[in-house]
Amino acid sequence: MTKDYYKILGISEFSTQDEIKKAYRNLVRKFHPDVAGNSDEIVSRFKDINEAYEFLSDSFKKSDYDKARKFYNYAESKKEYNNQYKNTKNTTNPNYKKTKTEEKKSENKQTEEKQNSFSFNWEEFIKNFKTETETKRIQTPQKGKDINTDVEISVLESINGTTKTINMLKTQVCPKCGGRKFVNGSACKHCHGKGDISEYKKFNVRIPAGIKDKSKIRLAGEGEKGQNGGKNGDLYLTIHIAGVNEFATEGNNVLKTVPISPFEAVLGAAINIDTPIGKVSLKIAKGTRSGQKIRLAGCGLENNGLYGDMIVTIEIQIPKQISPDELNLYKKLQEISINSVR
Ligand SMILES: [Zn+2]
Repeated sequence: MTKDYYKILGISEFSTQDEIKKAYRNLVRKFHPDVAGNSDEIVSRFKDINEAYEFLSDSFKKSDYDKARKFYNYAESKKEYNNQYKNTKNTTNPNYKKTKTEEKKSENKQTEEKQNSFSFNWEEFIKNFKTETETKRIQTPQKGKDINTDVEISVLESINGTTKTINMLKTQVCPKCGGRKFVNGSACKHCHGKGDISEYKKFNVRIPAGIKDKSKIRLAGEGEKGQNGGKNGDLYLTIHIAGVNEFATEGNNVLKTVPISPFEAVLGAAINIDTPIGKVSLKIAKGTRSGQKIRLAGCGLENNGLYGDMIVTIEIQIPKQISPDELNLYKKLQEISINSVR
């Protein structure tokens, strides 16, 4: 008794995993006892479909199955060949009397036949094979996979340190079927035959003060669950500091060029600017020149409890669009100007 899983799923032995999955899904839709009825024939067919998929969808089981199938087919063809050979002899000469040497030959042939047509008990093979692979899986501890994820923080948070709540999708091996996708020949109801389960998990992660952009934080054991007593994987967080490129740094000091309008330069102004520690009001003195530097003490980066400064370089910029009114005023300014800058 044998089961050809490829025939059961109506596919060839060269089918890809996608084709196997597709064939399986179509058959499940067609032969599910809820749809096709509860007759013994349907139930047993449905079981066969699931068993076939259980073997063919698992590369480990599939390669062993393929070997056994080849072996079985070989044994069968050998048996068939021997039977044909015997039949030919019998039909050609039904009343043929064997000589002594021929009797000896015939004896030899019988032992040969015995060797070639060894009985291959399929049911037994599957039973043993299942227990063997399952014990193998139970006994081998496997470390869970590491998980990588990104966390974005502000420059200020990178300076002071912060606590972030991370909501992460974690995939783990289905606890019901242990990743085998099947329970007693039918698709596992807990994981819907997927073999693993994905769930969101919240973490509170402490991010230390002074953390650098793109540095990694490792949370040991927070990766995917290990199997068979294997260790859990780790969770790696890559820290991204938002707006870190807005500032150039020089040690603990941060440098930034800030544009102002000509009238702000002449009349003075108070403008809001972004610094690593948040928004700060910057006083522009009357008659500020382009290229003038203003030092904001303590607005830089922190290192061992000491804060650097922020150094602002002022750049007087002409707006891209000037209204006719503004242009008239500039003309007026030109007429009444008393001092040349050259
Ligand atoms: Zn499951």
